[in-house]
Amino acid sequence: MSPTATPDGPFVLDLHELSRRAGSMVEEQRKVHAPEGLGLPVIGIPPGDDLHLTVRAEAVEEGVLVTVSVAARAVGECVRCLDPVGEDLSLTARELYYYTDRTVDGEDEDEVLRLIDDRVDVESVVRDVVVTALPLAPVCRPDCPGLCPQCGIALVDDPDHRHEVTDDRWAALRGLDLSND
Ligand SMILES: [Zn+2]
Ligand SMILES: [Zn+2]
Repeated sequence: MSPTATPDGPFVLDLHELSRRAGSMVEEQRKVHAPEGLGLPVIGIPPGDDLHLTVRAEAVEEGVLVTVSVAARAVGECVRCLDPVGEDLSLTARELYYYTDRTVDGEDEDEVLRLIDDRVDVESVVRDVVVTALPLAPVCRPDCPGLCPQCGIALVDDPDHRHEVTDDRWAALRGLDLSND
């Protein structure tokens, strides 16, 4: 995608051909590269990976109702055993972008999405829907037993594995006189 075709970034849609007549609709599919930080620290969409977007914009009374569908693969690691985990995401969000001449009652202007020069920027919508859908603590499988706290091997590979409990801390204490007199 050349920079001149999308001067304001890959998440910006030019809707100047969309009539303001309520019910007019345009739909566009595009593939973009995932931006930095699309996800959570433990799981997310690697920067540069493909993000498949379908954006449908429909003129309504107050502005343009934008429906964004996102398909992408999130990758991360299991919080218990640190094995890689992946999740195919297929998400949809819908937001109203108001015409600039519309006042919006009862909402903080910073929270209001606006059409600017007949364009909408859907990056924040994509970020919100992706981040909300991701698990806060991804696991490779629901019953992942994690790692052995003593030697660090994955317990799934050797569930019966045990260590002889020889705790040197108690042995050391036995040699001390703990009385105060
Ligand atoms: Zn695991
Ligand atoms: Zn062990």
